[in-house]
Amino acid sequence: MNISRLARAIAESPTFALNEEARILRERGEPVINMGIGEPKNKTPITAILSSASKLSGGDIKYTPPDGTPSLKKAIVRYTEENYNKVVAPENIIVSAGAKQSIFNILYSIINPQDEVIILAPHWVSYPEMVKMVYGIPVIVTPEDGTFHPRMEDIMKAISSYTKAIIVNSPNNPSGEVFLPDFIAQIVDLCEQKHIFLIMDDIYHKLIFDGAVWKPAYQFSNVDLENTMIIVVNGIAKLYGMTGFRIGWVVTNRKLVEVMTNVQAQTTSCTSALLQSAAEGALNGMQSVVENLRLTFQNNQHIVVEEIKTFKGVRLIPPKGTFYALPDFRSYLPSSLANDSVELARLILKKALVVTVPGKEFGMEGHLRLSYAGSVKEIKEGIERIKWVLDPSSPNDIYIGDRKLIRDWL
Ligand code: PMP
Repeated sequence: MNISRLARAIAESPTFALNEEARILRERGEPVINMGIGEPKNKTPITAILSSASKLSGGDIKYTPPDGTPSLKKAIVRYTEENYNKVVAPENIIVSAGAKQSIFNILYSIINPQDEVIILAPHWVSYPEMVKMVYGIPVIVTPEDGTFHPRMEDIMKAISSYTKAIIVNSPNNPSGEVFLPDFIAQIVDLCEQKHIFLIMDDIYHKLIFDGAVWKPAYQFSNVDLENTMIIVVNGIAKLYGMTGFRIGWVVTNRKLVEVMTNVQAQTTSCTSALLQSAAEGALNGMQSVVENLRLTFQNNQHIVVEEIKTFKGVRLIPPKGTFYALPDFRSYLPSSLANDSVELARLILKKALVVTVPGKEFGMEGHLRLSYAGSVKEIKEGIERIKWVLDPSSPNDIYIGDRKLIRDWL
């Protein structure tokens, strides 16, 4: 078949593929624990339901302006003022179908073929694929000191005359690392000096634990908004647990918003009016919804950290935010799986019905990403099962659902 070479080269989304595998197993009645997908389990905030329900019952669901409804933009202006201490105009904002589309539209709008985009590992799975989709070249920078915190010297080494943008995601998916304010200040400075776009993926910015500090990039810039190199991405998926509503947005200079608006107008026209009104309801409603999620994840993080400690060789840098942990299983891997997190994740799914995501997908071999967005019971049982699969010092038998299983491979 004559399918485009570029499109064929784009990898399947591993998290969605694993999620589908888990769904099929669960449908078959298997007691699967999904620590794969990053999705809060809360019900949709009531203010989002009411706002979209009232829009729906009005029966007037039409096209909206391609860059978003004026009322949702107004809510985003306020959100930006409250959370970023930054006054922006509606013309500095474009709403898209999830932060994922926002990021794709940014890349489509700034990248020329062969431009390089610096991506800091461990990184969200979609960044490199999206860069490739717009004929750019992803340049992955991995911390060489064994931490999950990027280092300026490594970034400096990766910069070339083709560098067009750097993507920073803090709090970070998959590590849960929150980058230090000093680092954010330095990277803002670097991007402004070298005229490189700084894409700040802030999608988890309120999900931070135990006094960790998150600072918006704008705070470290003296450049006026219309000349800024900073492009902020945010959305409702993670903070409000509204993954299925598909609303994200970008805040940046008007010129780029204009170009992105043209791109969006020629592709999706606009985001659904109904879903935009839901997002507006969430942003204008009670913000205790977000704080409750944060507290839940903070509690879950404590449990994950404690449970992982019981694996003697597994190293975990405690996540400071998000709902992911990225433990290093290298010392536990049997030689047949040495440095093969894909096989490791497969083994855990096959033997113990726990979905995890291989670290390889995030540029961190030998690690597994565990999502702790689920219930405490699921988290505890999931980690117990993983331990049963890998740790010879754990009990030899285990109940998975109502089946008693005996380990015979260690
Ligand atoms: N950025 C990061 C780092 C993410 O983890 C995700 C979702 N997994 C997104 C962006 C996309 O969010 P949305 O659901 O709003 O498209």
